[in-house]
Amino acid sequence: MSKKLLLKNAHIEGIRYFETYRKHGGYEAVEKALKMTPDEILEEIKTSGLRGRGGAGFPTGLKWSFLAKPEGIPRHLVVNADESEPGTFKDRYLMEFIPHLLIEGMIISSFCLGSNTSYIYIRGEYSWIPDILEQAIEEAKQAGFLGKNILGTGFDLEIYVHRGAGAYICGEETALLESLEGKRGNPRLKPPFPAVKGLWERPTVVNNVESIAAVVPIINITGAEYAKIGVGRSTGTKLISACGNINKPGVYEIDMTISVEEFIYSDEYCGGIANGKKLKACIPGGSSVPIVPANLLLKTVNGETRYMNYESLADGGFATGTMMGSGGFIVLDEDQCVVKHTLTLARFYNHESCGQCTPCREGTGWMYRILQKIENGQGSFEDIDLLWDIQRKIEGNTICPLGDAAAWPVAAAIRHFRDEFEWHVKNPELCLTQNYGLAHYATPLTAVAEID
Ligand code: SF4
Repeated sequence: MSKKLLLKNAHIEGIRYFETYRKHGGYEAVEKALKMTPDEILEEIKTSGLRGRGGAGFPTGLKWSFLAKPEGIPRHLVVNADESEPGTFKDRYLMEFIPHLLIEGMIISSFCLGSNTSYIYIRGEYSWIPDILEQAIEEAKQAGFLGKNILGTGFDLEIYVHRGAGAYICGEETALLESLEGKRGNPRLKPPFPAVKGLWERPTVVNNVESIAAVVPIINITGAEYAKIGVGRSTGTKLISACGNINKPGVYEIDMTISVEEFIYSDEYCGGIANGKKLKACIPGGSSVPIVPANLLLKTVNGETRYMNYESLADGGFATGTMMGSGGFIVLDEDQCVVKHTLTLARFYNHESCGQCTPCREGTGWMYRILQKIENGQGSFEDIDLLWDIQRKIEGNTICPLGDAAAWPVAAAIRHFRDEFEWHVKNPELCLTQNYGLAHYATPLTAVAEID
């Protein structure tokens, strides 16, 4: 049984409301933190080894230490709740069911960073959650945990919830800041980074919902104890949103010592592949991270067990590994067509490109059109090579990571499932009537794992 830090009280009826949350130890971390100095809190976060839970996995304490602190200029904490990566819905769960955990984490983090006005930028599609957050903010204010002179310490804090309009690109931190300022959500050229010039050109820290929520247990149990959970540089717990062809889709908290195989097949988590099918592949960190076939998902290329943590999932680089990313764990069974799946993702990234840089603006559409051709049985072997060439020219050549996010799924699909792409070229008449998944019984895949 995994240790639970964030979701340990999630099952308690009424935990969404202040009174119940407080009765179960809520806001004790704030009381403790406000007796510490900002530097002492920062030290705890650094000691904990917490890494950003939004996707990049950058050490949170180090990020906070980069914040510029010029005299007389306000600083801001902005919580990135623009959770738009397909397959990722763990922040939604936190905000919807335990909103006070986020508010409590924000109070401690704002105190540490010296922010007196902090924001939650939430994706437009989460239309019912801002009301939940605003109610939690109001309850915290009534109880003296927000507003002027919190707990008599002289620290003032206001938190505002800002609704996005539903653009994936606003999950990129500088696009988010542009949108928060009331402009079109276009990513900025960097440097300067937000830690120096962020919201309204003021020093700003942008952190994911789960990262800020994790500050609460870190203060409660200390950074050193938090660092003992997990393994290596994957400390603490991680929320995983699991979906696709599994028996038990949902949000799970893991301590990053469990194997991928246990996560997929154990009844405590995904409960195995639905309908008695075999595992074909998985995208473990949200739609932008490389897809891995079952044989490389359960074991590394050296035959070692693959674990649910940052290092193990990345073992072998993109040739044989993938990324923890945002923890959006998408499982594909043996009936799924990788070409069709890749086409769906390509359509998404093409639609969400802001259009500022040529490789992304033109390349995402080009990849989408070629994938459409192949999926419809009108592609050629040259198209597969062209697709490979285009994704290589997008990766690393754009202002923001959306270019990479569009390129990686295509690269990994071709790298691991080229036989499926070729099957579409060789069997145009079958492409029009059924997808590869349904047809592949005639051409068994080596990638499909045999699980005893
Ligand atoms: Fe816009 Fe794409 Fe360039 Fe990002 S990579 S700035 S989304 S065009």
